[in-house]
Amino acid sequence: MKRIYEPLAYSEDVRHDCFWSTTVAPFEGVQLQGTHQSDIAIIGGGYTGLNAALHLAEDGVDVALLDAQTIGWGASGRNGGFCCLGGGILGNAQIDKAFGTDARHAWRTAEKDAISHVAKLLERHKINADTHSDGETLLAHKAKRWTTLKHHAEEVSESYGVEPILIPKGELSKHGLEGPFHGALTTPIGFGLNPLKYALGIAGAARAAGARFFEHCPVNRIEQGAQFSLHTPKGRITANRIIIATNGYSSEDIPDWLAARFMPVQSSVLVTRPLTDKELTDAGWTSDQMAFDSRNLLHYFRLMPDRRFLFGMRGGIFANARSDAKIKRLIRSDFEQMFPAWTHVDTPHMWSGLVCMNAKGLPFTGPVPDMPGAYASLSYHGNGVAMASYCGTLLADLVQDKDTRLPYPEVVQTAPTKLPFGTKRRWLLPPLYAAMGIFDR
Ligand SMILES: Cc1cc2nc3c(=O)[nH]c(=O)nc-3n(C[C@H](O)[C@H](O)[C@H](O)COP(=O)(O)OP(=O)(O)OC[C@H]3O[C@@H](n4cnc5c(N)ncnc54)[C@H](O)[C@@H]3O)c2cc1C
Repeated sequence: MKRIYEPLAYSEDVRHDCFWSTTVAPFEGVQLQGTHQSDIAIIGGGYTGLNAALHLAEDGVDVALLDAQTIGWGASGRNGGFCCLGGGILGNAQIDKAFGTDARHAWRTAEKDAISHVAKLLERHKINADTHSDGETLLAHKAKRWTTLKHHAEEVSESYGVEPILIPKGELSKHGLEGPFHGALTTPIGFGLNPLKYALGIAGAARAAGARFFEHCPVNRIEQGAQFSLHTPKGRITANRIIIATNGYSSEDIPDWLAARFMPVQSSVLVTRPLTDKELTDAGWTSDQMAFDSRNLLHYFRLMPDRRFLFGMRGGIFANARSDAKIKRLIRSDFEQMFPAWTHVDTPHMWSGLVCMNAKGLPFTGPVPDMPGAYASLSYHGNGVAMASYCGTLLADLVQDKDTRLPYPEVVQTAPTKLPFGTKRRWLLPPLYAAMGIFDR
């Protein structure tokens, strides 16, 4: 596997303090040994691969899923748990220009449907994923942003057909949303969840429906003849069709087509010990709303049902011990700046992971060009809890040549172009972060 970050980004070292792993028993699949056969083989055991596996197994298809590590080991088992709108970074005007207004409406509807899709899965498979929050709240980090929130509210209303709620600065404390904020906008769509409980719940449902799972088996070569052959260190699996569901953990050569068509970006999270009622009232943050601030380099945070506080932000550009230590200091310092009343509070859990962007600014879901029988879905731009689940479900139908059970938005059908600088494309990030930081002041 040819990957663009240092090995640390793909290691257990940046994940071992992840809070979610303490909340649920691991999945325990078997390792692939010898030669196996399946109709469809999936590479990657996150929401994309798991949703594809579940829906294929429920359709009675012989499906096997392989993960380089364990099920839910990637972003799906270590994210912030915002089951929210998103998946792309393009605004309405940009989507209209590139795809037209109808395609944009279909995409915005899919964003909403993706959230309902997850809610239905939790209900249908009786997965208790510690859900909370009535939509999500955007907090203006400077006075100037408050003035633009009204316009933003109109755009939300037009895009999603809901009435967002504007909360002026003077009313934030009444809503338990105190902090260095200048007002807020709540969009009543989405909810928070325990991301690993959700991932493993889906994996359990897929296994019960007949899907086979193999862990600790990195696919290091794809061979295509009459069938596909996926090679792993201790065995191989042959399949008629394959799904690539590796997102930010993708390699340049699995398959070669992916080279430079995705941009993994690190994101970091901390979780506090449970906070007391007094600590919550001291900070003025008592709301169960999941929230994020209006910075380009945004912070995302939420008070979880067990009263621990989760706080996340962008990660480092490098993945080495020095950079990891630096980002841990930075996230702790940003947390204390935003919530000075919690300066004394321990944060025993800090970890990071890879989200996935691309040059197109929207996900790609569909057949891999010039590789008949191979399908892929990736690049949810840091908002994949709902959208990866939706797109993985689309793949379950596409790979069977069936009409999709969920609408297949036009905007995800076009393949992303290559980013400049090849394997050195991470060098695009420092100037980008610097520019974003300037606008955030
Ligand atoms: C710190 C962080 C916070 C985030 N917060 C949020 C949030 O709050 N809300 C939200 O909507 N989104 C969030 N995201 C993004 C979201 O988690 C992802 O978009 C989503 O989980 C992607 O799912 P996936 O299945 O496509 O990929 P992943 O879950 O990353 O799974 C990919 C899997 O592929 C496996 N793999 C890779 N290569 C191979 C190979 N060659 N052979 C076998 N297996 C392989 C990996 O081991 C991995 O398990 C966050 C991400 C991170 C990292």
